[in-house]
Amino acid sequence: KNLKKHFPIKGGVLKRTQGYVKAVDDISFAVKENETFSLVGESGCGKSTTGRAILRLHEPTEGEVLFKGDNLLDVGKRSFRLMRKDMQLIFQDPFSSLNPRMTVKKLLMEPLLTHKLATKKEAEQKAANMIEKVGLSKEQLDCYPHEFSGGQRQRISIARALIVNPKLVILDEAVSALDVSIQSQILNLLIKLQQEFHLTYIFISHDLNVVKHLSDRVGVMYLGQMMELATTDKLYENPLHPYTQALLSAIPSIDPKEKKERVILQGDVPDPSDPPTGCPFQLRCPMAHERCAEEKPRFIEKEEDHWVACHLYEE
Ligand code: SF4
Ligand code: MG
Repeated sequence: KNLKKHFPIKGGVLKRTQGYVKAVDDISFAVKENETFSLVGESGCGKSTTGRAILRLHEPTEGEVLFKGDNLLDVGKRSFRLMRKDMQLIFQDPFSSLNPRMTVKKLLMEPLLTHKLATKKEAEQKAANMIEKVGLSKEQLDCYPHEFSGGQRQRISIARALIVNPKLVILDEAVSALDVSIQSQILNLLIKLQQEFHLTYIFISHDLNVVKHLSDRVGVMYLGQMMELATTDKLYENPLHPYTQALLSAIPSIDPKEKKERVILQGDVPDPSDPPTGCPFQLRCPMAHERCAEEKPRFIEKEEDHWVACHLYEE
């Protein structure tokens, strides 16, 4: 709720003035229990920072993170550490998050033992169960991360995240480094595990094809702000925001008969330490008009479950 994460930087010619990169700049959204909520946008739009701010890996500058009614930012660091097992993060590159000197068995037992959730014997049993849940076998428990393929390593990090029985799993570009065929295997595994363990996902990705496949609702971010938020069907069938329209027009269509007009965006994403006035998208927007440079559009619910921040839709 009104979440902000501003990183201080030294700015100005003499590097004396204090500037800020407004990586996340006042965004609000709700994630429902047992759904997959996706955050999409180009790299640098603040989606990873949002995920990390929710888990306080980047302490938010302002705002609230309400988890089952409690504001996580009011909780002291020590109690927060106890709550952290309910919220797990899975990254793009499992190689850097899995200790190469630990066997899979140790890697899976470790979170249970650090959180004191199981005895050594129980942890061993849970590791053996969990490895099969992610489609690997018990025989592989004694292997080391380098003995696995990229997709298998991602299965191990999923097992490691789920073994503590979390409620919320934040997946940050979790399949982005994988080949397309492996991607779909991992996505199907994530869908299966979500049902089985009653998980809630925040799925962070730049890939709109992947997002479409598994999300219930999607938020589109640009320069640290939310541009559009809707159910997956509404967003893909009727994108309202010019930025979403451009992103969707760039996805290659599977159906060759479907003619899509590609919207080419002008220029690059502006420097986040020096964002434009008014609408953050105004320098690249094909629909920009005078008001866009002057006034920031409000985030409005244009129709049920379909929010947008653009002057074209304001009364
Ligand atoms: Fe484009 Fe203006 Fe809408 Fe921003 S407010 S997306 S610049 S039309
Ligand atoms: Mg990122």
